[in-house]
Amino acid sequence: MGNESFFSAPQLKRDPLGGCDLTAYGGPLDPVLLFLAWGAFIGGGTLYVRRAQIVTEKRRRFRLYAHVSFGVFVLVLALNLPALFVLLLLPGLVAMDLLTIRSARFCDRVGHVVIEVPWRPPILRCPECGAPVH
Ligand SMILES: [Zn+2]
Repeated sequence: MGNESFFSAPQLKRDPLGGCDLTAYGGPLDPVLLFLAWGAFIGGGTLYVRRAQIVTEKRRRFRLYAHVSFGVFVLVLALNLPALFVLLLLPGLVAMDLLTIRSARFCDRVGHVVIEVPWRPPILRCPECGAPVH
């Protein structure tokens, strides 16, 4: 009884206001865990897009995946950077999201995904199998 209070009392009484709770809330997440989660997210999204059997479905899934990854990216930025900075970046990020979706083409045959580069001539045929892309 005497020993117990000797060990626990000082910690309980110590500084109830100015505790450093940064590790419990809002602290940096484990980078390895983040990296694994990000990899799983990209792998899962790519699989999800690839599994689509027809081009229209593939395009729909690709658009969904682009929006979701864009949302996650903004969320990660918002958690790690000042809000004003993220707000300033937002128009550029939205433009990137839309550009990615606009420049994605899908091949008729096996369903390769071709990303057009805006400043280069449009890609009309799949570079891998030669089928028309849409
Ligand atoms: Zn192809």
